[in-house]
Amino acid sequence: MALGDDVDVSDANGRADKGARAARKAKPDENSNRPSREEAMDAVRTLLAWAGDDPSREGLLDTPKRVVDAYTEWFSGYGADPRAELQRTFEDVSGYDDIVMLRDIQVQSHCEHHVAPFLGTAHVAYMPRNRVVGISKIARVVEIFAKRLQTQETMTAQIAQAICDALEPRGVAVYIDAVHQCMSTRGVRHPDVSTITTRFTGVFKDSAELRERFLRLAQGAGGR
Ligand SMILES: [Zn+2]
Repeated sequence: MALGDDVDVSDANGRADKGARAARKAKPDENSNRPSREEAMDAVRTLLAWAGDDPSREGLLDTPKRVVDAYTEWFSGYGADPRAELQRTFEDVSGYDDIVMLRDIQVQSHCEHHVAPFLGTAHVAYMPRNRVVGISKIARVVEIFAKRLQTQETMTAQIAQAICDALEPRGVAVYIDAVHQCMSTRGVRHPDVSTITTRFTGVFKDSAELRERFLRLAQGAGGR
């Protein structure tokens, strides 16, 4: 969607009318529906004005640029392919056939309903069949999915599915515990509530004992 199709964003602050229109025409990729950087900055000005402030005051002049730069980081996951990260696998593991687990992977994501941050940790494990992947790649997969607009439930399922598809392991377990700022700073305002989501496939789904072992390891009782 191109901003300005239905709403003239420059009306909101009554400035930069010509500049904004010219910028809207100068799209980086004419075949893409993706708005230009200038259009994105206009949209930020609109939100600032709508919040009740004056986007032309000194303190806010560079804010649209900063917000767009922040969006580039926060949503960098759209430009990355989690499956590509998992392509390089290793088969020589000297018969290792037990759980491979990454604990306390930092999750910094944004909810797709409010574009508010949700922050927490992920624990990801798989039971290899024939191959393993470099452990940093698992953390990278979590990061790629986190750097998109998400629900925690979807992200949990996506991480498990990507590992299933790439490694065809005997099972995958994903556990995410996060605090959603859309819940802690607005709406019901419950600052201390965290949300836990899990996904178990294969042997983790079939075996309660294995699931419990995973959860014990996730909670740090694994002898660290
Ligand atoms: Zn939300």
